[in-house]
Amino acid sequence: MKIVILSRDSTLYSTRRLKEAGEVRGHAIQIIDHMRCYMNITSHHPKVMYQGQPLVEVDAIIPRIGASSTFYGTAVVRQFEIMGVFTANTSMAISRSRDKLRSLQIMARRGIGLPVTGFAHSTKDIDGLVDIVGGAPLVIKLLEGTQGIGVVLAETQQAAKSVIEAFRGMDANILVQEFIKEAGGMDIRCFVIGDKVVAAMKRQGAPGEFRSNLHRGGSAARVRLTPEERSTAIRAAKAMGLRVAGVDLLRSNHGPVVMEVNSSPGLEGIEKATEIDVAGKIIDFVVKHATPDSDDRDRIKY
Ligand code: ADP
Repeated sequence: MKIVILSRDSTLYSTRRLKEAGEVRGHAIQIIDHMRCYMNITSHHPKVMYQGQPLVEVDAIIPRIGASSTFYGTAVVRQFEIMGVFTANTSMAISRSRDKLRSLQIMARRGIGLPVTGFAHSTKDIDGLVDIVGGAPLVIKLLEGTQGIGVVLAETQQAAKSVIEAFRGMDANILVQEFIKEAGGMDIRCFVIGDKVVAAMKRQGAPGEFRSNLHRGGSAARVRLTPEERSTAIRAAKAMGLRVAGVDLLRSNHGPVVMEVNSSPGLEGIEKATEIDVAGKIIDFVVKHATPDSDDRDRIKY
């Protein structure tokens, strides 16, 4: 099978591992920089061009689209979809998951456990917003933030108001969230492929840090999930329409709550913490569903 990995950087751990896992299984794997692809928008012979040549006879793509190239990257994925190529994640699902607020609204509608979250445009409504989440301490998040940057814990009502005003003064979009203190600076990354959690790790923030991001000095270890955590992660990925997803949960007093669903979850942290061949599982999933005579190809609608 010919599988294209859409990635800006062929030296990244995740990209390398996917290539390796595909080749070990006897597939032809090509890494393509989606920002260097160009396309013809036509109903007859839609094509994706790369370095002057059309990409032909591609059976499946695995998009690894970074947050900074969502717009163009999803256009390339969409072009492959028009050509009938199977994708590990659809362009629609990737776009959806990139919008934190929209994602929370979609999950809320499906009754998935979430931290109580408030959002407002005007700074005139700060008091009401703080009330929604039950007052301080609370967490304020920049909608555009990643890797824990722009996630602030406000311990008092006054601090919360100042931070919200400052962010809004810069015209930044923010959301305000109940602080899940009992999580103790730990979150759980569930790696979902299809309708299974194939690997899970807990990430613990550095001492004194409520954010557990590995980029912020957190450490990771394998974790055993409860059945409720497992089903929450699967439902969250499904609600977003993602076939491959990293679902981040917090253990709260009111059960597991989903913080975020990631459409290009990194492989390094999870493979090293769990010693599970997650890259191989992604390849196996893609191969199973991309096979032209596979019933699954038409059956999986998300
Ligand atoms: P990013 O997408 O930038 O990583 P997150 O929303 O995942 O931002 O937050 C970063 C980290 O901060 C999380 O991994 C978690 O450990 C912590 N955190 C985020 N929201 C809350 C919350 N509502 N309560 C407690 N801890 C939180």
